[in-house]
Amino acid sequence: MKLPIGRAWEERVDKMGNRSRGEAERSTARMEGELYKGEDYKTEFQPQNYLKTYYAFDSGTIAENEVLKFNLNNLFETFSPGGMGGDILIDIGSGPTIYQLLSACEVFREIIMSDYTELNLREVDKWLKKELGAYDWSPAVQYVCELEGDRSKWQEKEARVRRTVKRLLTCDVNQPRPLGSAQVPAADCVLSLLALECACRDVDAYRAAIQNLVGLLKPGGHLVTLVALRCCEYMVGSRKFFVLSLEQETVEKALQEAGCQVLKCQYSPIKYSEAFCLNEGFCFVVARKGPGA
Ligand code: SAH
Repeated sequence: MKLPIGRAWEERVDKMGNRSRGEAERSTARMEGELYKGEDYKTEFQPQNYLKTYYAFDSGTIAENEVLKFNLNNLFETFSPGGMGGDILIDIGSGPTIYQLLSACEVFREIIMSDYTELNLREVDKWLKKELGAYDWSPAVQYVCELEGDRSKWQEKEARVRRTVKRLLTCDVNQPRPLGSAQVPAADCVLSLLALECACRDVDAYRAAIQNLVGLLKPGGHLVTLVALRCCEYMVGSRKFFVLSLEQETVEKALQEAGCQVLKCQYSPIKYSEAFCLNEGFCFVVARKGPGA
């Protein structure tokens, strides 16, 4: 039995991510309720609620902004000219977001985005096509342009993302071929942010999923991933979703077992607002696929 849907969760949370007392009491019922996972994503994960909660940026809660900045700063460092780049980047578990491509679009010729749910891909497509009701990413785009040295170039960057994303595909990281029968060239880079810990039921599945992603890479290609550590659940609107709790060592070990060398593992103790997500820190990881993997 699924829980009835409450009023939008985030309306009752202030800038610091604190819930009102009434909300805390009301939420107890939900805490004991359904924990969504697996195939539930296809019906229960509402892209607009996810975006409003975690990516409101300037107008959102402080903790969520800090997480996004940590992420954007690391992506900027990783994909700045002279750093990593190449022909093909595949983003796995893209969700309804495009922030992850703002630096990468400058150094890859072609980007393939993918997600488990059609609804998320539809949300991305709305933004790519500048449709009515598309999410406004401009605050995050301006932030990245500022990192690059010129905040005023944000519209050019948006145009570049739109030009560089060539395909939207469905994917399942739990399959040995995460992109199914789609004809996709081996990638120079596979990017997967905050997705594997949502998609995998246990550590064995996580290890297998890392291997599946490594399988999409050319030898010498890079896997870039951001993990919410020691996380167990998060809210999307009034729905609570399962997250696999991971330690940094587990992530590094999974990459090594899949034949990768870990080049960077940037830890930060920042957390999401407790009202939205329970986690203890993040790690941003860059690994390289070895010749024999
Ligand atoms: N990368 C985005 C979205 C993360 S939310 C971001 O950085 O914000 C988690 C995402 O994992 C959702 O978009 C969900 O649809 C996706 N997901 C869930 N199960 C999956 C699976 N088995 N394979 C691939 N993606 C999955």
